[in-house]
Amino acid sequence: MSTPLVVAVDGTSGSGKSSTSRGVADRLGLRYLDTGAQFRAMTWWMLSNDVDVHDADAVAAAADKPVIMSGTDPNGPTITLDGTDVSREIRTDEVNGSVSPVSAVPAVRARLLELQRGIIREALTGPGIVVEGRDIGSVVWPEADLKLYVSADPSARATRRAAEVGSSDDASIAATKASLEARDVIDSGRTTAPLVQADGAVHLDTTHITLEQAIDQVVQLAVELTSQA
Ligand code: C5P
Repeated sequence: MSTPLVVAVDGTSGSGKSSTSRGVADRLGLRYLDTGAQFRAMTWWMLSNDVDVHDADAVAAAADKPVIMSGTDPNGPTITLDGTDVSREIRTDEVNGSVSPVSAVPAVRARLLELQRGIIREALTGPGIVVEGRDIGSVVWPEADLKLYVSADPSARATRRAAEVGSSDDASIAATKASLEARDVIDSGRTTAPLVQADGAVHLDTTHITLEQAIDQVVQLAVELTSQA
């Protein structure tokens, strides 16, 4: 495969974009960046330091303080906050409930945008990178070689997410669905860098396909693209 390559993967929460992105990066020998984990780490820092996540001015004033580092191996991505591994902390309900308001604050986005672009530039000195989030194809790297917009039916998303955390009873699925949909509303409705299908993005609906099929489809698109180059 001719390189370097940037693949931008945006989409709703629980659509399968993380697993698909990691699988594609692994198959194509690319790095992998989970920008959602960075927003989650920023949110965990705010919660741990008693910053009111619904006070946009307070969040903006603190946005430069946390030191967030992302490891980009698709088979073992890492996230550290002030030098400490926070990969578990960032997946808690507390963070799920607070990450969208924190992510809507322009100062937070500006800070992480700088970080994200630096990681992508570095990856371009090698084979390239798959970057997943909400605004990668629209704002972070609009010149990406391949852009995907991944979605799935809300019930399918909730069932998968609940299964990931080992709670597949009806009440857990209903609570997960409500939480995912609440985040979607804020992420799609915010003023700065809302979730949109970027210009030129290919829509991938994962409701009725397996993870392997999703990965195959994206790898196929990347191979077609590089064989045309
Ligand atoms: O992808 P994940 O569900 O882990 O993202 C968590 C949250 O981070 C999203 O709901 C959104 O509020 C925020 N986010 C964002 N922009 C990105 C990636 C994530 O605003 N590029």
